[in-house]
Amino acid sequence: MKTTSTTTGAQSATGPLLVISAHAGDFVWRAGGAIALTAAAGERAKVVCLSYGERGESARAWREGKNLEEIKAERRAEAEQAAQALGAEIEFLDAGDYPLLETQELTDRLVHVYREFEPAVVLTHTLADPYNGDHPAAARMAIQARILAQAIGYDAPGEPLGAPPVFHFEPHQPEQCDFKPDTLLDITPVFDRKRKAMECLPAQQHMWDYYTDLAKRRGVQLKRNAGPNLGLPHTCMAEAFVRLYPQTTGVLA
Ligand SMILES: [Zn+2]
Repeated sequence: MKTTSTTTGAQSATGPLLVISAHAGDFVWRAGGAIALTAAAGERAKVVCLSYGERGESARAWREGKNLEEIKAERRAEAEQAAQALGAEIEFLDAGDYPLLETQELTDRLVHVYREFEPAVVLTHTLADPYNGDHPAAARMAIQARILAQAIGYDAPGEPLGAPPVFHFEPHQPEQCDFKPDTLLDITPVFDRKRKAMECLPAQQHMWDYYTDLAKRRGVQLKRNAGPNLGLPHTCMAEAFVRLYPQTTGVLA
């Protein structure tokens, strides 16, 4: 994994980025900046959508009288456009939502993704979300698949996986999900791309400004934590994350 300097002067890891998303829109709101930064650095970013969010996160389409297959196709097309705006590859596993069922078959498909893609960093949901059972289910499968992909004896093609760090991205209601950020990522240089990706999801237009405001707020916190005394003198946009495993380092910085 190589490192690059960001506008904050902090070191940020880059390398193939794997994002495991329960529904088709989740990766855009919660990790669009991280994805766009990776792509802008010339690295691969891949989003795996376990479902289209067809039943639980497509209320407007249901009210418009569309049927299940129409809604899945619509959500797929939107997510593809959003991924393209961010510079990411995207794969849909079409496992169904509400509920997203945790199965060994689906976990095994994720093991194959890990072995093939060899991510340097993994992003997924929080393990707690009292509003949405699909999100923790996706996170549990993402973590279990990582563990299995590391096992030399697990029956899947490719080399055993190393130890890519796992970050939980920010849920919609962070306090209820025990989400206390320990990592603030400066997404200022790519925020325009994130906004464009958000605008690929017209059914959730009410979220565009919400997540723009959230990026400003996290950016203020980043400034305060990054700069000397009262923080950096320029405006920042940021995304917040929580590390699952300890950071490993040869130097405390
Ligand atoms: Zn979701």
